[in-house]
Amino acid sequence: MACDPKEVAWCLLTTSAPWELLGWQPAAAQVEQFNELQHLLRLWNSRVNLTRLVEGDDYWISQIFDSLWPLQRWHGSSDPLQVIDVGTGGGFPGLAIAIALPQAQVTLVDSVGRKLQAVEAMALELGLQPRVQLRCERAEKTGRDPACRGRFDLAVARAVAAAPVVAEYLVPLLKSNGTALLYRGQWQQEDSRQLQRAAALLNATMAAPQGMTLPAERGQRHVIALTPNGPCPRTYPRAVGVPGKQPLV
Ligand code: SAM
Repeated sequence: MACDPKEVAWCLLTTSAPWELLGWQPAAAQVEQFNELQHLLRLWNSRVNLTRLVEGDDYWISQIFDSLWPLQRWHGSSDPLQVIDVGTGGGFPGLAIAIALPQAQVTLVDSVGRKLQAVEAMALELGLQPRVQLRCERAEKTGRDPACRGRFDLAVARAVAAAPVVAEYLVPLLKSNGTALLYRGQWQQEDSRQLQRAAALLNATMAAPQGMTLPAERGQRHVIALTPNGPCPRTYPRAVGVPGKQPLV
């Protein structure tokens, strides 16, 4: 479902067929992988506190659909894609993206080792390795590592930190023609003003926010895309903890 790029576009969803709403139909093997991921989340949740969104619409809408709706531009493509999910937690949106986009190599970053161990085990069970790599570290380090800086077509983060903080994590990771997607809930004009100022410091441009009302009354979501204007200044990301304590704006 395409949203008007010029302004916040509300895509009201009135049916309970999420795949149709995404304009993308998973193959049988992918549906099986989503089912298996749900099973694995239940299993690992009993050992590590990964997520409370595991059953029914909590899983299918608030996890799977919410992870995939911002990716419509990439669903039809078979071009190789380097994706990084910063602050993946229990594996979202990264694992859902790895299942949905078979052309993608997906790097999952989180600083909490026990979560990442669970995510690694799930990726292995799902047969997603070697397309999935894991990095247990702070995003500020990832953005300074030459193996990651400027290497990704797509950098995503959901529910990690305030938008200007996430922008500082994601933009340095992008190739010159890459895109950062900030998954957000509510979004106001003041948020846009702040993020635009942060993007300018990072030498990036903010696109108009896209809005979505999730099916099954799962709430409102926005995604905001950032694209580089040129190389990100070497000063970013700043040292571990600084982006959160002293946000760019
Ligand atoms: N993205 C997942 C989701 O939407 O379900 C997890 C969200 S969870 C609320 C935030 C995660 O971001 C946590 O697992 C936390 O460890 C991670 N995180 C926050 N700041 C981070 C940083 N600077 N570097 C790496 N991970 C970070």
